[in-house]
Amino acid sequence: MFKTAVIADRAYLNHYAGYEHPERPERIETLLQMLATRHREGMFQLKPRPATTAELTLCHDASYVSFVEGACAFHRYQFDPDTYAVPGSFATALLAVGGVLTAVEAVMGGQAHNAFALVRPPGHHALARRAMGFCLFNNVAIAAAYLLKHLGLRRVMILDWDLHHGNGTQDLFYESSQVLYVSIHEFPFYPGTGAVNEIGRGEGEGFTVNAPLPAGCADEDYLRVFDELIMPIAYKFRPEFVLISAGYDCHARDPLGYMRVTEQGFVAMTRRLKRLAEDTCQGRLVAALEGGYDLKALADSVWATLEELGRDGDEKIEAVKGGRRAEEVIEKAVFKLNRFWQL
Ligand SMILES: [Zn+2]
Repeated sequence: MFKTAVIADRAYLNHYAGYEHPERPERIETLLQMLATRHREGMFQLKPRPATTAELTLCHDASYVSFVEGACAFHRYQFDPDTYAVPGSFATALLAVGGVLTAVEAVMGGQAHNAFALVRPPGHHALARRAMGFCLFNNVAIAAAYLLKHLGLRRVMILDWDLHHGNGTQDLFYESSQVLYVSIHEFPFYPGTGAVNEIGRGEGEGFTVNAPLPAGCADEDYLRVFDELIMPIAYKFRPEFVLISAGYDCHARDPLGYMRVTEQGFVAMTRRLKRLAEDTCQGRLVAALEGGYDLKALADSVWATLEELGRDGDEKIEAVKGGRRAEEVIEKAVFKLNRFWQL
């Protein structure tokens, strides 16, 4: 049984809209209740540390960081109709970034084999100079930059299975060959980016991989994308660390999207990424929570992911049957990316 660090804290409840909003404190409260009632061998909890300003500026402009801090002095500040801050938000956002860094440090330091940071607010829409899509700072992107700049790694893979395209993460590494950013998302959909022809630029050309799937896709569609597009590229990239932007809003029960992924789908995706990490980087893998707005689906799916992170690693990876809805997207993506990866 593998040791998995779970980063969790009640302090993540201190960011709230004050009106009905899907990205709400109850998401973390539900996960804390889940952790209090379910347990598996090898799993242990860690408290997050706050990120420093220097860490935030690995991905964000210093002027933007001050702007967010200033915005949090208001009773409530709206960055856009979806994205808010209240007085507790800045500290909570520092803890969200720091939670993912805590997870990365636990894995790099050998305290844990892998880790899951149960943080909020989410991060993958946050740009260098802009909050959007419920996100203030880009938690996972900062963790990737931290691994490269402070911990000496050269290649980091980010797999983003959130319902939405992680435009912020893509943008931050669009010209980098050190970060392989891979996203499977509903398309066309918010935020509008993530088309198959967005593959990176300059040095980074070929290091952004988008699988924009039509509404209604289920486990078998996602897994076809993994087996025919993502895994062949990932094994050639040979990451030294695997980060998952783990959003659960692609779950069948989620109120925001129209995908039909189940707990078994998250297990199967996790199994593939865990196997990749075992094969290329001693199992170094950290998942970080992004979206997921149905509380039951969120708790059950996070738990399914945590259980899979603990399994020994010799479980069978089943061949996928079906997945026809993904075929066209896979074909187009392979066509665009073939010259970089010889697929
Ligand atoms: Zn999302």
